Amino acid sequence: MEYEDRYLQAQKPKYDCLLFDLDDTLYPLSCGLAAACGQNIKDYMVEHLGIEKSKITELGNLLYKNYGTTMAGLRAIGYDFDYDEYHSYVHGRLPYENLKPDPVLRNLLQSLPIRKVIFTNADKVHALRVLAKLGLEDCFEGIICFETLNPTHKNTISDDEDDIEFVGSAVTAAAKTTSNRTEIFDIIDHFSRPNPGAELPKTPIVCKPSVTAIERALEIANINPQRTLFFEDSVRNIQAGKRVDLHTVLVGTSQREKGADYALESIHNLRQAVPEIWEAEIKTEGYPGKLARETPVTA
Ligand SMILES: [Mg+2]
Repeated sequence: MEYEDRYLQAQKPKYDCLLFDLDDTLYPLSCGLAAACGQNIKDYMVEHLGIEKSKITELGNLLYKNYGTTMAGLRAIGYDFDYDEYHSYVHGRLPYENLKPDPVLRNLLQSLPIRKVIFTNADKVHALRVLAKLGLEDCFEGIICFETLNPTHKNTISDDEDDIEFVGSAVTAAAKTTSNRTEIFDIIDHFSRPNPGAELPKTPIVCKPSVTAIERALEIANINPQRTLFFEDSVRNIQAGKRVDLHTVLVGTSQREKGADYALESIHNLRQAVPEIWEAEIKTEGYPGKLARETPVTA
């Protein structure tokens, strides 16, 4: 018995990090931001890139499906535009007023003395704005966002380690390039062929659900996937997370999909659905509590 007690004392907590997607995970889809964002992306494609209105829906779907985000797809097929301009256009007019402070979620998060990190494909300005609206700006150790995985300075995405910023703080603006439609890969035509032979062009943008993006995020934030719970509303991101050994929680449905270890209708159900997170706390008497990397969200 004594041995068993000692063993339990020495046992590490099952999880030491919670990794959260932002949009439609920390607040419900019904807030309407996703729908508005989708419309803004379509408007951007017409107004800024001069794409024919009749092609927008099909093109957008193909790009999203094949590249993770429409933005990543647009870059892959040859459109050139300024990332900051794109983000401010598609996020700038979102109905942020629909997001209200969420004291229930805030209390839940604050009751967990383990690392909590945001991992979003969106840009830093949007992430900070959403967290502020939800009243959660001080609940996370850091944010891995678009700028973190795509550090841009000069004209290109940099591979230089020194350019990587965990919290996506001030990033030198990308080169102000104008829309360039000279060599656009016709992805609609590509998929309309019975047997598309040519390979799809690659995107320079690193984003979920690419495994590379997730591995990079884990490395930057010094996260061990086997001791981390990954919360996401996107099934394909959950499946990608599973491929890198993360424990996965699908949010927004109680229906577990392939790749999801847990499924929550709402993030508010966290305590009921994943009680192990709190149980771990009991077993970790003497847990240092000090975070490995303390970086305030409000950089
Ligand atoms: Mg999401």
